[in-house]
Amino acid sequence: MEQTFIMIKPDGVQRGLVGEIISRFEKKGFYLKGLKLMAVERSFAEKHYADLSSKPFFPGLVEYIISGPVVAMVWEGKNVVVTGRKIIGATNPAESAPGTIRGDFAIEIGRNVIHGSDSIESARKEIALWFPEGIANWESNLHPWIYE
Ligand code: GDP
Ligand code: MG
Repeated sequence: MEQTFIMIKPDGVQRGLVGEIISRFEKKGFYLKGLKLMAVERSFAEKHYADLSSKPFFPGLVEYIISGPVVAMVWEGKNVVVTGRKIIGATNPAESAPGTIRGDFAIEIGRNVIHGSDSIESARKEIALWFPEGIANWESNLHPWIYE
């Protein structure tokens, strides 16, 4: 089944939003397949955001991501990449709808609390980068109650 990489950024961890964010993905019916709290090194943050290295905000973005521990996760389910992005909300919290994570918990684009893969291909790359050790292999007993 489809998987996505979700990361709670340092502001989300510092602000005590870890439980709330996990809860939103869990209650939706997605399955948690990988989870760790970790400090990120500069070179690793640069690698994760390599596609944005030419942007003017890139140095600030890297400083932000290494400013404290993050929570890295893998979530699984039907259409989890696109639906995960909807749960997260628009990149700029000023434009994120209420009810989304960024819409409910963030003000500024440079402190937008959470990352989610933007395609199946980037999810695959990001999961490989963040979870080189692999992820958990388990199936939820709730499956028939969530999928028809
Ligand atoms: P995302 O996929 O919605 O997270 O957005 P992007 O992949 O385009 O950008 C990655 C992250 O860089 C965003 O989540 C923001 O934290 C940050 N970012 C993107 N655009 C800007 C910007 O114009 N200014 C600043 N300060 N940060 C930005
Ligand atoms: Mg992105």
